[in-house]
Amino acid sequence: MTEAAIKPATSATPAPRRRVQAMKEYHPPLGSREILRLDFNENTFDCSPRVPEVLGSISAGALTRYPEREPVEAIVAAHLGLAAEQVALTNGVDEAIHVLFEAFLEAGDELLLPVPTYTMYEVYASATDARVVAVQAGDDLLFPFERLLAAITPKTKIIAIANPNSPSGTAATREQLLQIARRAPHAVVLVDEAYFHFFGESVIDLVGVIPNLVIARTFSKAYGLAGLRLGLLAGPVDLMCWVRRVLSPYSVNSLALACLPPALEDSAYLDWYVGEVLAARSEFEAALDQVKLRRWPSRANFILVDIGPRQAEFVRRMRASGVLVRDRSSDPGCDGRVRITIGIRKQMQHAILALKEAAAALNLGVDVK
Ligand code: PMP
Repeated sequence: MTEAAIKPATSATPAPRRRVQAMKEYHPPLGSREILRLDFNENTFDCSPRVPEVLGSISAGALTRYPEREPVEAIVAAHLGLAAEQVALTNGVDEAIHVLFEAFLEAGDELLLPVPTYTMYEVYASATDARVVAVQAGDDLLFPFERLLAAITPKTKIIAIANPNSPSGTAATREQLLQIARRAPHAVVLVDEAYFHFFGESVIDLVGVIPNLVIARTFSKAYGLAGLRLGLLAGPVDLMCWVRRVLSPYSVNSLALACLPPALEDSAYLDWYVGEVLAARSEFEAALDQVKLRRWPSRANFILVDIGPRQAEFVRRMRASGVLVRDRSSDPGCDGRVRITIGIRKQMQHAILALKEAAAALNLGVDVK
């Protein structure tokens, strides 16, 4: 608990906005992660070796200058087949979400959110005066397409869709996303393609074609640059101009900007990492089936697993075996479920041993057909 939360409010202390006072504290478990990190869906291994090379070549003098985002935005835009004005680099997709919500959500607006989904949408929405309208997925955790369409109202201002979604790993189809965008022309449809490289399908080619479509991409996952904090928003110029009003010109630092072009160029590294993860995902799925644990089919670099009422014990046992996994029990409709990131094959062989040991010790999976 922070000092601010336990300090009684007195007339002597300035009060933040009421919205901020009502915000929930969010502390992801980022401490003591020196073992196998299958808990945050990061790259679990390394970024491209070209990135530390570039970092090592940065001079003391270069660090005295403020970062200039535009030249790197132009490189990234060209890489994506877009115009530079359609792309804004951000301090991770988290900043992209924050800025988009700040730019578009005001009192009376609704943010439409299929749930369970990525936690930060709700966190940033709760700092605005808009209302979150959550659309719960069924037990299959498939994209709740029909219900989402039915929940669109004239007040809907943003529809945020992680595709593939986390923690489920399931995905919406291109046709579903198109229909949603057409049904809500008055709303920004944010398609967060954080896990695109593991999925292989994208709607980024529709940027500028569909007037209300905005895409987010991160460099934290397949590229392995979570520590540098790099993400982007891509959308039509007449929406991106408002995003740029809110976005700080300084928020992406010069180290991150220097590393991005060599990371983009090293497609061989990216292909190798994605190939490893996809092969390891099949092997891990087979292991889950062998121990008879229910899992959801995943299009991303993680798998959601139904552990049941002993999920906290499972997480503890996995940690004792040197593997961090993430308890998602508090996500809506995810009681007893644990999300396991997929790393490279060698790492996942260790995770499979830990899984089998934990499943046997806790007598998991025995009641499943
Ligand atoms: N979007 C989704 C769907 C995610 O799962 C995550 C990371 N867990 C992010 C965005 C955050 O990306 P970044 O590290 O670029 O802030």
